[in-house]
Amino acid sequence: MANEESIRAFVQAVSGELGSEAISTGEEVLTRYGEHTLPGPDLRPAAVAFPDSTQAVQKLVLAANRYRVPLYPISTGQNIGLGSRSSVRAGQVVVDLGRRMSRVIEVNEALAYCVVEPGVTFQAMYDELVKRKSKLMISATAGPPQGSLLGNALDKGGGSGAYADHFGTLCGMEVVLGSGDVIRTGDGSLESASHLNWHVSKYSFGPYLEGLFTQSNYGIVTRAGMWVMPRPPHIESFFFTFPDDTDLHQIVDLIRPLKLSNFVPTQIRATNDLYLIAADCVHPEYGQSGGKKQITDEARRALQKRYGLGSWTVSGAFYGASRQAVQPQLDRVIAHFTRSGKGRFIALEEANEIAPLRISMNSYEGVPGEGELKMLRWRPGGGTIWFLPRTPMIGSVANEFHLASRGICRDHGLEYMVSNVCGPRFARGVHTLVYNRGDAEETARADACYRALALEFAGKGVFVGRAPTAYQGFHQGQRMSAFVEACAAIKRALDPNGIIAPGKYGID
Ligand SMILES: Cc1cc2nc3c(=O)[nH]c(=O)nc-3n(C[C@H](O)[C@H](O)[C@H](O)COP(=O)(O)OP(=O)(O)OC[C@H]3O[C@@H](n4cnc5c(N)ncnc54)[C@H](O)[C@@H]3O)c2cc1C
Repeated sequence: MANEESIRAFVQAVSGELGSEAISTGEEVLTRYGEHTLPGPDLRPAAVAFPDSTQAVQKLVLAANRYRVPLYPISTGQNIGLGSRSSVRAGQVVVDLGRRMSRVIEVNEALAYCVVEPGVTFQAMYDELVKRKSKLMISATAGPPQGSLLGNALDKGGGSGAYADHFGTLCGMEVVLGSGDVIRTGDGSLESASHLNWHVSKYSFGPYLEGLFTQSNYGIVTRAGMWVMPRPPHIESFFFTFPDDTDLHQIVDLIRPLKLSNFVPTQIRATNDLYLIAADCVHPEYGQSGGKKQITDEARRALQKRYGLGSWTVSGAFYGASRQAVQPQLDRVIAHFTRSGKGRFIALEEANEIAPLRISMNSYEGVPGEGELKMLRWRPGGGTIWFLPRTPMIGSVANEFHLASRGICRDHGLEYMVSNVCGPRFARGVHTLVYNRGDAEETARADACYRALALEFAGKGVFVGRAPTAYQGFHQGQRMSAFVEACAAIKRALDPNGIIAPGKYGID
């Protein structure tokens, strides 16, 4: 952490070079940018900077090097449950790129990509495509519509539809390194006035550097190309529900061939009862137990009945020319999931009446929405932590992890809420721990629960794919030391003074 004198000198220098609107140390601003939903105190930054261009970011980084002040970049800081907009350690200077760098630089209809600055949100990009009468669509997340397309991809976020792997859609970045140098990745690195392939040809010549700037602290990305999908004339969401907790075993084995063959073009989600239902109601027994116990099976079954859902709901979507055109695929998938007698198909007319399923439908349509955010109100106090492991797409393995997680949540008096976002070979196990951050005892239980889950999964050979800031150092510590040292060596090479987000993702 920089001392007060360095911070003062840095703020003065930035204000002088970039104007007073480029930096704030206002009380309300520092309080707001320190807030998050994780266990542990808020992390008040030393200042918040608002650059308006790559050149301004470069000047910030150079000044930070001069005064040895750590910078923490965010795009829009909507990383709720993973750190929000707060830095990994108190006293860093948050660089809010989104406030003044929110231009859609290009929408290329023919090659189906866009080039964006960090402040372009899911909602803004959706609106922009509608305004342009574009034939393209974004892959929306179920998260905040004011989240950044770029920030989400840099944190390896995931969305809905065939382009759900947001990191995978990144193609061609401009990055300010910790040293202050500016680089263009991939074909953009060609010394030339024009770069025809920068945002279309992914791997280019030589080493592929883009992965270095995701979930790391080696540079600040100031713009990037992202691939988007041509909007199909018709998108048909489908839903199946399964009654029993252990049906996950069967579900995962049923999903795997559909994804390995790409019969279903979207990712397929297997989501449990409470993850869906919590987006539409609050914990019915919280008052009774004072939040000390997991919801009873009796109350959970009552909620299932109220929403017409079983323990698990499977969802996905088909693309086609019309409803009629996708009917044969739908018929095949209905036969596939109902053959064992356990899965029940939920027709679209019925799904439309179930609020949590409407959220999924919008998401498959590429429409951002706030629906899922309501799950944060399941318990009072606004606490939420995402636990994000991945497990192989083998039913018995998925079920083993599911039973372990369910038990750990029960032991810590918290609800088990998970959505398994299934690809061909692995599923992202999107677990959310919702807890009362206003209650110290419940917060301690949530923290212990996260750590117990992480240790249980790691003990069985499963690592996380993304982590809240509060646990990034802990997870980096679970790695082989040679890997950790390699990360540190790259840090020294690209950011010799350790200016960008020291401690982020456990890298110093
Ligand atoms: C109810 C709910 C549902 C959610 N659903 C989803 C979901 O479906 N999919 C999903 O992926 N997430 C989901 N989230 C998590 C999160 O809210 C989103 O991922 C959100 O988009 C992240 O915030 P952001 O886009 O504003 O990124 P930011 O908060 O700006 O940044 C995210 C991370 O990337 C780094 N970063 C950002 N910009 C840069 C840059 N320019 N250069 C270098 N590093 C940078 C930041 O330091 C931070 O570590 C959900 C959250 C909630 C509460």
